[in-house]
Formats: sequence, structure tokens, C-alpha cells
Amino acid sequence: MEDIISLLPDHVANQIAAGEVVQRPASVVKELLENAIDAGASKIQLIIKAAGKELIQVVDNGLGMSPTDSRLAFERHATSKIKQSGDLFSLHTKGFRGEALASIAAVAQVDLTTRRETDELATKIKIAASTVKSQSLEVAPVGTSMVVSNLFYNVPARRNFLKSNTVELRHIIDEFHRVAIAHSDIHFVLYQNGAELFDLPSGNLKRRLLHIFGSKLEDKLVPVEESTSVTKINGFVLKPIASRRTRGQQFFFVNNRFVKSPFLHHAITNAYEGLLSEGNYPGYFLFFDLPPETIDINIHPTKTEIKFEDEQSLYAILRAAVKHSLGMFQVAPILDFDRDPNLDTPYQQQNKSALIPKIEVDKDFNPFQNQSPQSFSSKLSPQWESLYQEVGSTESSKINLLSSLEETSSKESVKLFQLMNRFLVSSTGSALLLIDQQRAHERVLYESFLNKITNASATIQQLLFPLKMELSAMQQGLLDEFSSILNEAGFLFNSNKKGELTITGIPSVCSENKGLSVFEELFSHLENEIRQDSFSQTDLLSKSLAKTLSIKRGKVLKHEEQQQLLDDLFACKEPQLSPFNQQIFVSLSKEELDKKFNL
Ligand code: ADP
Ligand code: MG
Repeated sequence: MEDIISLLPDHVANQIAAGEVVQRPASVVKELLENAIDAGASKIQLIIKAAGKELIQVVDNGLGMSPTDSRLAFERHATSKIKQSGDLFSLHTKGFRGEALASIAAVAQVDLTTRRETDELATKIKIAASTVKSQSLEVAPVGTSMVVSNLFYNVPARRNFLKSNTVELRHIIDEFHRVAIAHSDIHFVLYQNGAELFDLPSGNLKRRLLHIFGSKLEDKLVPVEESTSVTKINGFVLKPIASRRTRGQQFFFVNNRFVKSPFLHHAITNAYEGLLSEGNYPGYFLFFDLPPETIDINIHPTKTEIKFEDEQSLYAILRAAVKHSLGMFQVAPILDFDRDPNLDTPYQQQNKSALIPKIEVDKDFNPFQNQSPQSFSSKLSPQWESLYQEVGSTESSKINLLSSLEETSSKESVKLFQLMNRFLVSSTGSALLLIDQQRAHERVLYESFLNKITNASATIQQLLFPLKMELSAMQQGLLDEFSSILNEAGFLFNSNKKGELTITGIPSVCSENKGLSVFEELFSHLENEIRQDSFSQTDLLSKSLAKTLSIKRGKVLKHEEQQQLLDDLFACKEPQLSPFNQQIFVSLSKEELDKKFNL
């Protein structure tokens, strides 16, 4: 019988391998920027067209390549950065696998122009589908220009898989930020469709952050510095008051390479404990210096995941360093202004230890029996009161629970109360209902906005004092795209060429002091996750507004508000699920309860 195994032709192997390295335009951006840095460039320009789908060009003023190296660079496992496996443990470059250019050339058209200082003329090479199409000599400045056009032109399945330009550009900007923050000594410029999005002159880390995120960040940065035998840490965290509802500003760098580490993130969240209001995320830009032999960055092809030899110590050091900085810069007291008094322990209780509550069970009590409000509260309240007095718990939930209960029970209806500042407890027929207040309100707002936008029937409140906001080029683009539908939702605004947004009217359901954050969150939603699973602009905008304006967990609701929310929810078309397909309530029927009690 004949042999049936054959080696895949190079260009096929390359295309398969490319899938690992090149997932989207942003992956190309990352590889090209890193190559420019490895080449010692002091200025790097990134030029993008159609969110990188048409063109990605990186121009650097680094070392350049010889004519032979220019061709070799596109071979798989062709690298100038390591010679033997031992070098892997003392890496000082971004790249080392020698795979990026081979992968890119397998799925795009590439034009390389490069010149070393010692060469008179530059080498120009054109490659498509892993094949060199031409090579010539040209006049060009020292350094390298790499043009990658029509990404995935020969892999239609992958090209179709790309997201909208807004989403792909967001990914590109994210990569650009990561690289630019890690290398503040290099001058970076980013152009998209001919417009300059960023011009970041070389400087220190702080200046770089202000250039990227705006000068308002200056007052919010808290320096972090720590040096131990395990690691050196430096950088900044954001004051808790600057914390945001989105995860945009979270950056870890290990030996100057951006990494993701849920583990280290946890350490930071832990250090911020009690300082952030619910639903907000801490911001950080932190650099770790670690001996290369104590980390493994090679476990993920795109090299953002990392393993540490001594995770536990790192965690402890990071947590302590951040805590220390937040304390040193007296960040905590500033926060006291908007502290929820519910979270404070009554001071006379602070030193008492918790006692086990005595609970007396009323055997005759049946919550599903129709009874007058008075009898309900008189049955419950003595026990709750004694619980409160005896426990002296530092957990705010019990105290809150009690206060809500008391508030409600003194009112007319007992069929509804708020639990843990988070759930509405009610009953229907013979079932107990536990409703998540935030999700419930998201559903209510979502359906109401859908309705209003579709019928163009939003009621607008004109603002006496217009709100102002500075827009990035990215946000400006989003605004253009969404302006008519935003009008229909009840927003009145205009923006000028300089990117200043003036908001003169907002939907009447939106409180005035939320006007700006509505826009900020809207932009971040439009750029990020919500966009990807929305089926229309109307749907997307309604989801975003619902998410931003909803009553959050942790908010104490007056009885009337509880009642309103409950009524509104059950007037919705789909009261079971939030707009993000999450369960809004759980119900326990009498039968289920009977079962639980073995009745
Ligand atoms: P790696 O970066 O892992 O070595 P690449 O495929 O990204 O692999 O690049 C292959 C080689 O091409 C590099 O090792 C380097 O020698 C050369 N090279 C790539 N980009 C540049 C550049 N912008 N300037 C100079 N040399 C470059
Ligand atoms: Mg590389």
C-alpha cells in the first residue's frame, strides 16, 4: 500500500500557525510595534485605515535590516533575538519566537522597506501569501516601514469574522496604549484614516498617562513604590474617587511587557476593600521588575498571560504596597464624604464580640396566611429587635435589613420589603418572590427606552446649565454614528471640531447630575461588550441606557419606590430576564417551601 502522510506545504502550515498569532488587526499592531521597539526605535508611527482591515503600517527609526535579513525575517522561526534555548531565560526583547512576520505574511499582503545606517539604499520587499513577489532597492530613511494590507484577504472565513470597525479600532487602541504606556521614553503617533488620534512625545510615565487619558488624571494618580528581594513595583494607582464603572484603566506590566493577571488584580481589589462604591473598578498602571527566571510568559501565544514562581509573596507585597500608598496619600479620608452611613458600625458596638442570636420560632406563624399588617409586624419585630441589640454585628447587611423591615412594616402594606439593600421580597398568590432590584430596573428602563426610541416619544428635560465634555477622536466618531438615535432617546447636544461636546437636554428619566456619566458610560458600552451582542442601534442604546441609569444594588429604596419598581417590572413584556439575559427573580412556591421543611 502507498504511504499516505505528506508534509504540509509551507504556505499552508504558515496559514494554520497564523491563526495563533494573528486573530485580528490589533494582533498585527502589537507584533509590529514590538518589533519596532526591539529594533531600538525612538520614534514609532502607527498608521491605520478602516480599523486595520485595509491597512496597518508601522514606521520606525530603529536599526533596520540587511537585504538578506529582510527576506529571512519572514521565515518561520527566523529571529535575531535568541540563538539557543538558554537565551529564553534572559530575554530582554519583546519578540523571540520568530513567528510574527511569517504569520502575518501568510494572511496579508506585506510591503517592507528597511535601511540600516551603514547601507546607502533601502531594501524593499513585497510579499503576499508567504511568497516574495518582488525585491528592489529604494531611497528611504534609516529604519523600517512595514505595511500590512488587506488582512485575511485569502482567508475569507476569518475576514468575515472580524467585528465592526469601532470594535476593531478599540482593540487597536488598547494595544497601542499598552505598548505606549510601557515605553514612555519612545515617541508614538497614531493616525486613523488620516486623522491623528494620539501624539505621545517621549517623557516619563506620568506624562505619558496624562497624554493618553487627559490632564484631569493628574489629581487622581497615587504613586506606588516598593522594592523587595522578590520584586520591584512602581507606577500609579487611581484614587478611589476616580474609580470607574468600566475596566478601562487597568494595566500590569511585568518586565515592561503588558500582562493580564486576574490574580494580581485580586490583590489590588483587596487593597481597595471598603474604599470603592459598589460596581466601581479600581484603576492602576503598575510595573513589576522580576528576575526573568522566576516567570513564565510563554504559556500563551499572544503572550499576555503569565505564570509566577512565587505568586503568594507577590500577592502580599502588591496588596501591602497599594494599601500603603492609598493610606499615605490620605485617600481614605477624602472618601468619607460619600460614604454610606449604613456601612459604619455603631461605635459602641465596635468592641463587642458577636453573640449568637437567640431565635424563637413561632410554630403557628404562616407567612402565606392572609393577615393584617399589624399582626405581621408585631410577630416579627421583637425578634428582629433583639437580634439587632445582641449581635452588634459589624456586618451592615443585618442592620440594613432591620431598618428596611422596620420602615416597611410601619407602613400600610407588608407584602413588599427590601432585603440587604438589594432584593425586593414579595409574594404572589402562594409563592415567595425574591427580586434583584438592579436587574428589575434594567428591564423596566430597557423596555421603556425601546418603546420611546421606536415611537420617538421621549420626554426631554432642557438643561439650565449645559454640560460639557471633551471627546476623543474615537468618541467623536461614535457620536456621529449614533447622533440621530440619541436624539430620539431624548438627548440634545452638539459638538464642535475641537471635540467639545455640549449637552443641552437629557431624557427626563435621567437625573441632571448623571447627564455626563451617562455619556461616558454610553461611549464605553458602545465601544465594548454590549455592542457585540446587540441586534440594532436601538437595542444597543436601550441596553446601554438601562445599564447606566438603573437603580444599583446597595441603594436603599423607599417603600413607594419599591412598589413602583414591582409594578413596572410586571408591566413589562418579559419580566423574567434582564436585557442581558440574566434572571431577575427567583420564586419559591408553597409546595417547594413545604418540601424544604419536610411538611
Ligand atoms: P521575533 O520578533 O520573535 O524575532 P518576528 O517574526 O517578529 O520574530 O521578526 C523576525 C525578525 O525580523 C526579528 O528577529 C528581527 O531581527 C527582524 N525585524 C522584524 N521587524 C523589525 C524592525 N522593525 N526593525 C528591525 N528588524 C526587524
Ligand atoms: Mg516580533
